[in-house]
Amino acid sequence: MEFSPDKACKIYLDGKWLATEREIKVVNPATEQVFAKVFAIDKDQLQMALNTAEASFAAWRGRTAKDRGILLHRVADELKRRRDEIGRIITLENGKPLAQSKGEVDMSEDHLRWFAEEARHSYGRTIPNQVQGKRHLVVKTPIGTVGAIAPWNFPLVLAVRKVAPAMAAGCPVILKPASQTPLSAIALAECMEAAGIPGGVFQLAIGKASMIADEFLSNPICRKISFTGSTQVGQELIRGAANSVKPLSLELGGLAPVLIFEDCDLERAVQETIIAKFRNTGQSCIAANRIYVQKSIHDKFVEKFVAAVERLKTGNGLEDGMDVGPLVNQSALDGALSQIEDAVKHGGKVLTGGKRKSGTHGFFLEPSVIDGAHDHAVCMQEETFAPVAPITTFDTEEEAIRRANQSPYGLSAYAMTSNIGRMFRLSEQIEAGTLGINDGAPTTSQAPFGGVKQSGWGRELGTEGLEAFLETKHVSIGGV
Ligand code: NAP
Repeated sequence: MEFSPDKACKIYLDGKWLATEREIKVVNPATEQVFAKVFAIDKDQLQMALNTAEASFAAWRGRTAKDRGILLHRVADELKRRRDEIGRIITLENGKPLAQSKGEVDMSEDHLRWFAEEARHSYGRTIPNQVQGKRHLVVKTPIGTVGAIAPWNFPLVLAVRKVAPAMAAGCPVILKPASQTPLSAIALAECMEAAGIPGGVFQLAIGKASMIADEFLSNPICRKISFTGSTQVGQELIRGAANSVKPLSLELGGLAPVLIFEDCDLERAVQETIIAKFRNTGQSCIAANRIYVQKSIHDKFVEKFVAAVERLKTGNGLEDGMDVGPLVNQSALDGALSQIEDAVKHGGKVLTGGKRKSGTHGFFLEPSVIDGAHDHAVCMQEETFAPVAPITTFDTEEEAIRRANQSPYGLSAYAMTSNIGRMFRLSEQIEAGTLGINDGAPTTSQAPFGGVKQSGWGRELGTEGLEAFLETKHVSIGGV
């Protein structure tokens, strides 16, 4: 794929690559330089894209699930073939270290293969009749054209989490990527084209978010919106969906607690917490946001944790061996620095990091640890989305669970323990869509992913991921 700061990349509509009137600049957060431009869609083109999607629906849903699965496997093959190139694109536009970008391509490939197979499992059922002469069937049908809105923090894999199940279910999709990271979506469109996906079944709507969202909400052709992003925009979509009663799937913000119990394997607890906190430079919806350590092991944990954080290498994700990249933009960096300042005002102590990385371009923050973080500090109450790890202590399991649940969010949570009874109690009592026990990277294609409370509605991945794009219809047949 070719891109440059002088010539905009075309967008993919109705199986064609088109130039438009408006352009968006793409900035590398490691250098602060514009390195690419892309064309942006206007309202008329978006309406045409919706019409095209609608026109492709009958033929796409009419194919066998096996056929759709074969095509999705081909998209996965293309991603695999272009793994290094697409990994580099992700690092350029998002900043994450190259190894993590390639890992994102691998996970996207795996999601595509999972849903390629799941397509064949959209089972209905037959129900025993209550009245003589009747038969009852439950039939699953694709919901129709889907508007998918994806964020910048995992620009490829979070788009694929919507696009793959929607297409597997028999739905055409229009993908709106984040304006910060449109190139990964263009690469995905190239893979769709190369795999032979019909033009109307997958299209790209890069452009102004409010215009695109308004059209998805008001246009009756769009039958569902699947959104990943901030809780604030999720709330706007809920308000906007009221008139048309548009179905929404919402993957929103998180505030993940990590509970570290005195019976844990300490080395493992440190390692898994490092992954949960610093992967993707802390810019993950499931990132560890609040670390609660049982008092009796606080000093030992903190000593090992700080040593591990200080071993992390921070720099341009294209350079070898980096663990932490830049934040996405200046305002993300300012937000993180202001959370650190606020934590210190509330009595927290910066044990390492705490400031912008000096002597470099790019939005780099030194990986930071704050001990003695107060429950009222902003970093314990609001999503941090940065490599900042605030630590506090607790006495009992009951207290740990209560404080972990004291949040309007409930996307993910983590616990480090070797007590099996405690594992069961936490599984039942922690309010989150995902709980990683001794596991800092719990997400997998086979298991459902999503949030409770203000972290969202619905689930992606697993068998639930396909279900999100299917309608359930009862058919009653009389006179049998
Ligand atoms: P965001 O501002 O909500 O943006 C996400 C997407 O929504 C982008 O494509 C954005 O487009 C679009 N958007 C912006 N305004 C919109 C509007 N009024 N209507 C419809 N779409 C709109 O979120 P962000 O700050 O980029 O992403 C970080 C947030 O996403 C964090 O809160 C994080 O926790 C959450 N997140 C959740 C999950 C999950 O699975 N639960 C996963 C990843 C991230 P533009 O880029 O063009 O503005």
